Amino acid sequence: MSTHEQFADDLALLALEALQGDQRAGLEKHLEGCSSCRRELERLRGDMALLALSAAGPAPSRRSRERLLKAIAKEPRSQKTPARRSSFAWTFLPWLATAALLLLAGFFWQQSDRLSQQVARLRDESAQQQAQLEKARQVVSTLTATDAMRVTLVAAQSPPQPQGKAIYVRDRSSLIFLASNMPALPPQKIYELWLIPTNGAPIPAGVFKPDARGSASVVEPPLPGGVEAKAFAITIEPEQGSSTPTMPIVLMGAGE
Ligand SMILES: [Zn+2]
Repeated sequence: MSTHEQFADDLALLALEALQGDQRAGLEKHLEGCSSCRRELERLRGDMALLALSAAGPAPSRRSRERLLKAIAKEPRSQKTPARRSSFAWTFLPWLATAALLLLAGFFWQQSDRLSQQVARLRDESAQQQAQLEKARQVVSTLTATDAMRVTLVAAQSPPQPQGKAIYVRDRSSLIFLASNMPALPPQKIYELWLIPTNGAPIPAGVFKPDARGSASVVEPPLPGGVEAKAFAITIEPEQGSSTPTMPIVLMGAGE
């Protein structure tokens, strides 16, 4: 290649379709008889295509990138002679197109970099959400486990009082109810939980029988959508449950 070094810049310009006139004719004549320069030209054209088309794929060799950029920088010599000035625009059109392609290639390289950063960030977020979901599952499964030890701490020396906790999310119609120290039920009776709405009649919100220690839970009973709750209450009902509460109310609590 060293004996053909004088054609190196012209080869790059020819690859850019920016070599004109005598210089082009001279180089084309040389190319007819020189396979090594023909190979070099093909390589430069291949790298041009890579520069223009590949956003994330293989990068063209540094050497030909530098040569192409150097050739672009040197190119204005074609306007030295007045005869060529009229064809100035035509000479520069391919040059401008190439410069635009180089800019586009750079832009897509950046875009692809930004996209892979976004993908990595989304992957992180999804892992975090997965961890939060797992934690929520654990909380619910502990709250509602039948084999959980349930301890209610009360003031010393006072007898344990029946107690219920309702956790209600109106937007999701989601309700979890936990009770402790519930007195044992008479035969053929059951406790029934009621959602007391701000407007209208009490809504049945599940039935339960406490275990030997007086603990019980109601998890996600079927409820109508989006009802605003004023309070929750518990009554004792026949074993199949009731659609309206039977007085008296055993436990009752309003929202804070
Ligand atoms: Zn040659």
